[in-house]
Amino acid sequence: MIKLDLQKVYDTIEWDFIEEVLKGLLFPDKFISLVMNCVKTPRLSLFFSMAPYTVSLNLREDYDKPLSPLLFVIGMEYMSRVMKEIGCKQDFSFHERCSSLKLNHLSFADDVLLFCNGDYKSIILMLQGLQLFTNTSSLTPNKSKSAIYCSNMADIEVKRVIDASGFSQQKLPFKRISRHECNILAEKMTTRIRTWSTRNLSFAGRVVLINSVLFAIHSYWCQILKLPKKVIQELEAICRAFLWKGQHIMQGAGNIAWSKVFQPKSEGGAGFTKTAEWNVAALFKYVWAIANKEDNLWVRWIHNVYLKEEEWWSYKAPNQGSWYWKQIVAAKDQLKGLIDTQQFTSNRYTISLGYSLLCPPQTKVTWSNEVWGRFNIPKHSFITWLSVQNRLKTKDRLHKLHIAADATCSLCSRHEESVRHLFFNCQLAQECVNQVKRWLSWVFSPMTLTSFLDG
Ligand SMILES: [Zn+2]
Repeated sequence: MIKLDLQKVYDTIEWDFIEEVLKGLLFPDKFISLVMNCVKTPRLSLFFSMAPYTVSLNLREDYDKPLSPLLFVIGMEYMSRVMKEIGCKQDFSFHERCSSLKLNHLSFADDVLLFCNGDYKSIILMLQGLQLFTNTSSLTPNKSKSAIYCSNMADIEVKRVIDASGFSQQKLPFKRISRHECNILAEKMTTRIRTWSTRNLSFAGRVVLINSVLFAIHSYWCQILKLPKKVIQELEAICRAFLWKGQHIMQGAGNIAWSKVFQPKSEGGAGFTKTAEWNVAALFKYVWAIANKEDNLWVRWIHNVYLKEEEWWSYKAPNQGSWYWKQIVAAKDQLKGLIDTQQFTSNRYTISLGYSLLCPPQTKVTWSNEVWGRFNIPKHSFITWLSVQNRLKTKDRLHKLHIAADATCSLCSRHEESVRHLFFNCQLAQECVNQVKRWLSWVFSPMTLTSFLDG
């Protein structure tokens, strides 16, 4: 197997080559000349409502411009076709497990893997294909970062291949996701939260940030690997500390039970998504794809190498199967207990559907729309959320916890300060509420927060 690292791809790519590939793929001439104008000239002026608006569109330098990676992928299509041609040659032998799929290369953006049977002829054919690609596109493999991986080959053969390619030999890098890599995830998150903790954010602001972190983890990490339980616990501990204390660590309990926070808003929670369950629901996506024989390379590979003709729902993973494969099979077995397999396969699958299977809906609370209303100021939502559950740090609670010396209301200095007193019974609160009622011409007389929200 050869792993390629292509040198600074956007700097060296030959634009004439891209133009030819676009022509070969039958893109319209007008489109091609527009694209070529963009990549060959550094400036482009657009006219919006007759006012000139100039943007720099230098594709050679701006890696993040959306067009460059797309053009690059089109260039890699050429590499893919060259390799397919090589696969058709009589002297070429595929790697044993790839021959039925005629698979000799994989590429994702600028990551390229080439692989074949370990005989000299096949390897040379592959290197010749690579040379053809380099000559045409000017994309050159970086010799020091590209590598060859050999298995079950005689030393003398390995040496011949290394001499012919100029790449160095390395040990197989494919192992299960290690604890170390998952630690990186927790570390990244801690650093991010450390920088946030200096900003003195309100609870509401923290909720937004935690949601954004969870979203990033759920839409990236949870989709590609099964996170170890311990890592998920660590991540949630960081979120928890950040929510209640604004830091990455804390001791003791938060204002509201952590499991409650993770319930949907309609059930009285703060609507965070549970990482462990989301992770499993993301794996169900693969289970579904296999059951439906979705048309992609990975599913074809699974059917070819692992399942063969076996029935998927009753399939058992072999002992020597990869760690990752066993995780997917375990997810399949878990899913089987939750659904009717036939119905599941015939319907479309989304991760949120899987998530609702793992976290079935529970009793709804009556106040969630009022508390989390779209037009509410987030800070108000959060305070109301704590109040309806009687978790606001009013003096009666602080006194019970021996934090406050007394429980007397700070506004009237006469009665005990509770949520009910603070918002309704206190003379000052009553005056405020009455003024608001007059202003908005409201007619109501509820005396508790929940009955107020219900009304
Ligand atoms: Zn009072």
